[in-house]
Amino acid sequence: MTVFITGGAGFIGSHLARALLDAGRSVLILDDLSTGSMANIADLVDRDGFSYRIGSVTDEPLVTEMVDRADVTVHLAAAVGVRLIVERPVHTIETNVRGTEVVLGAAAKKQKLVVVASTSEVYGKSQAVPFEETDDLTLGPTSHSRWAYACSKALDEWLAFAYWREKKVPVVVCRFFNTVGPGQTGRYGMVVPNFVRQALEGAPITVYGTGDQSRCFGHVRDTVEAVSRLIDTPEAIGEVFNIGTDEEVTILELAERIRTATGSASEIVKIPYTEAYAEGFEDMLRRVPSVAKLEAVIGFRPRTPLDTIIEDVVGHARDRSGAG
Ligand code: UDP
Repeated sequence: MTVFITGGAGFIGSHLARALLDAGRSVLILDDLSTGSMANIADLVDRDGFSYRIGSVTDEPLVTEMVDRADVTVHLAAAVGVRLIVERPVHTIETNVRGTEVVLGAAAKKQKLVVVASTSEVYGKSQAVPFEETDDLTLGPTSHSRWAYACSKALDEWLAFAYWREKKVPVVVCRFFNTVGPGQTGRYGMVVPNFVRQALEGAPITVYGTGDQSRCFGHVRDTVEAVSRLIDTPEAIGEVFNIGTDEEVTILELAERIRTATGSASEIVKIPYTEAYAEGFEDMLRRVPSVAKLEAVIGFRPRTPLDTIIEDVVGHARDRSGAG
């Protein structure tokens, strides 16, 4: 089986490519290297069954050619990271919606399976705990850029289901919840790599807002396992799945745990949202997935404990910096 991964040089994409190659599958990737990097796939380029192209997911002829060469497409290419979304809303909306249209349009020609990556952000301001796949989406006003990301991904989901119902393109939608792990960059605002870098440098650890907001952090290895199984599960077609753990932690506690794990003397400082992002920024206060549906359909749910995840990320960051 050949799997085509858009955004395959990104954080999740490169881990997925490696896992699929290890499982004996062939992998093609397309990436424009905007947030992905060649360093993420440096160990893959010489492997049998691997090939890559640098280009945009909005390049229709290129995407069509690659979708045709594969049996399955995993569409991960997107503008991601809250910082990028707030700073470049036009780019976010255009990349996310147009890219998904192009991929689904190409897959429609031969009804090939497409796994569409979505996000827990689509639940928006909903206060439900946990979030179930059938819950309503509660987005903020269109004047706030932050919700443009959620809305663009929600539209991707609607497009996927529209292609499934109307054109019989088999689709599976995955809502990823705060996936973290070795190799994730903090450049686009993601909290775990940022805190680890700050702790290792002895710099202040920057908690935005009160730090009472919470998240559930899933190990990328588990995310990739879930996606790999979904590809092979016919009952998953036409369905949406939360992918994440339900181990919840506040951001303040996360900062403390990372400081302890690194043995750092960094001070933990609280920065108002208005300084961290922009005026009027609204954060999500809690975000816990229900993973019952995922487990029922694929017999697996992400379970790696947060402390193990932190150890992995810290170990990897230390290796990279040569700090021993
Ligand atoms: N955050 C923080 N300090 C940072 C980066 C992020 O306190 O240096 C907070 C952010 O405001 C949010 C949480 O950590 O409440 C998770 O942020 P991230 O951007 O990793 O993912 P999100 O869940 O917002 O998509």
